[in-house]
Amino acid sequence: MTDKEPHKGKGVYIHIPFCLKKCAYCDFASQQLHSHEEVNQYLEALLSEISIRAQGQAYTVYFGGGTPSILPSGQVAVVLQAIRRHMEIKPLIEISMEVNPATVDDSDLVQLKETGINRLSLGLQSTSDFFLNRLGRIHSAQDCKQVFYWARQAGFNNISCDLIYGIPGQTLKDLKEDLQQLVRWSPEHLSMYALHLEPNTPLARLVAQHALPEPDDDTTADMYAWIREFLPTQGYKQYELSNFSKPGYACQHNMMYWQNQEYLGFGSAAHSYSQGVRSWNVQDKEEYVRKIGRKKNATEGREKLGGIRKISEHLMLELRLTRGVKKRQFKDIYGDDWNRNFSQAIEKMKSRGFLAEDRATLKLTPRGMFVSNMVFRELL
Ligand code: SF4
Repeated sequence: MTDKEPHKGKGVYIHIPFCLKKCAYCDFASQQLHSHEEVNQYLEALLSEISIRAQGQAYTVYFGGGTPSILPSGQVAVVLQAIRRHMEIKPLIEISMEVNPATVDDSDLVQLKETGINRLSLGLQSTSDFFLNRLGRIHSAQDCKQVFYWARQAGFNNISCDLIYGIPGQTLKDLKEDLQQLVRWSPEHLSMYALHLEPNTPLARLVAQHALPEPDDDTTADMYAWIREFLPTQGYKQYELSNFSKPGYACQHNMMYWQNQEYLGFGSAAHSYSQGVRSWNVQDKEEYVRKIGRKKNATEGREKLGGIRKISEHLMLELRLTRGVKKRQFKDIYGDDWNRNFSQAIEKMKSRGFLAEDRATLKLTPRGMFVSNMVFRELL
């Protein structure tokens, strides 16, 4: 697999919306699990949706959530069989699953490997018990280490680890200890996410009540700068704003999103993009089950992207990649429109040192990477 060429085939995303407990910072489309019966009902609806909508060739499969690793391996196998029944799956494609360290043991990981899952994205978030506790995670630092070891023992040779930085009270020294510890385990891939305090989360409320210190932007910027400096010295190349990998281990599924390729999402809150149309399912898992049961369709909305909007969305996606936008490719797809419509905003961002341009590419500068959302707003 390569991250250089646009792909034929679609990325397939499977959303599993259940979590054992909501983390203190989370505003994702996930809800606390109450019974296995609700998982079974959800799975039934999911399989029904796959049988109705899945078609074509799958280039990648990704189980995300929520916490997909709460599914027993037998149910994961059934979902993969359903995809295989309705879509062509080439051998050796990337099949990923997000794993919460509190939800699996050594035999679960062996069984998951047997289903065909070949890449794990471990939601570690920190290797410090103090900060795991602050984030409201349900696992310990020892769980992180143990699960990583078990995953290797089970034969997973493509493991990604998520780490959060900019946690209230976290210093640059804390982050250094965290990441230095993690690279010693030598995962193939690292996703480094700056914490955003989402309104109405317990963590944001604690900060608003001054029970926890507000993360300081300058410290978070220093952390990002250090991460970008440190990881290449350890053999990790940054290929996207938050993602670093050893050679050949960029996440193929996410690369499809960033290269504006087509994807099919199944499950509550899942998004799809096909033939210039973006669509999304209802977010509430119970409504999803009801809608699939009654109408065989859980789509909540769709929009056709056209004109300048289509170019600006594509521009923002590819600017996330460190290799930047290939100007020739944009000209081939959109003609001179892309340049004509965005030249003023691009010049403004270049003059402020957030974008850099040469004959072949347009890319974010290191300063621009840290304020990428502001740069993207200018391009909207
Ligand atoms: S495990 Fe992930 S999806 Fe679930 S509550 Fe925590 S952050 Fe949210």
